[in-house]
Amino acid sequence: MRALFGGTFDPIHHGHLQLGQALAQLVGLQRITLLPNRQPHYRTPPLATIEQRLTMIQLAIQEEPLFTIDDRELRRPTPSYTLDSLQAIRDELGVQQPLAFILGQDAFLTLPHWHQWQQLLHYSHLLVGSRPGYSSDHWPPPLQSYWAARQVMEPQRLHQAPQGYLYFASLPPSPISATLIRQRLQRNESCCQLLPASVQAYIQQQGLYR
Ligand code: ATP
Repeated sequence: MRALFGGTFDPIHHGHLQLGQALAQLVGLQRITLLPNRQPHYRTPPLATIEQRLTMIQLAIQEEPLFTIDDRELRRPTPSYTLDSLQAIRDELGVQQPLAFILGQDAFLTLPHWHQWQQLLHYSHLLVGSRPGYSSDHWPPPLQSYWAARQVMEPQRLHQAPQGYLYFASLPPSPISATLIRQRLQRNESCCQLLPASVQAYIQQQGLYR
């Protein structure tokens, strides 16, 4: 199965890559397409430019054949909705191939603020990865009923339908975040355990996040 993984990637880090790799193993994903967004309407603008974010992703995945990039949202002149991209990718893929969209638990909790969020499952499954500090027992009410009606417990079920299911993966939580990395870089602290060396070298060369 193919999966999409949206994010700001400001910068991309091991938390993203490890989540993708763990889900690939658990669910059976052959390919994960990173879908960097221009600027989500619900958060502050990225510090790195579009070109810098794209270069960091290219560097991070150059030796990771599982991952590819789809830069369609960055090439648009205005911010776009995830739903629009999902719809377009589903059109390209055809109606039968299973497709999944990957989210961390924090992003999943923001879902009710996304444009027509309930329609996301018309085009793909949702794969949610646990994140430290977020409980999986208490989703807010609109998510609770949505979740209850569509959750599958066995990842194999996701291969039996092209879209429409939610799967929550309890993975060893990773405390890495782009916020933590930006803060550490501003304090001139090392991030070598947190992101690929090639990305860290590029950040230094560009003088980013100082
Ligand atoms: P920031 O700290 O700037 O908010 P971030 O580290 O959350 O950034 P994003 O690019 O915003 O990174 O995240 C893209 C997606 O990856 C989101 O769905 C997010 O939940 C998920 N994600 C990022 N880091 C992790 C992690 N360590 N564990 C699980 N999911 C993660």
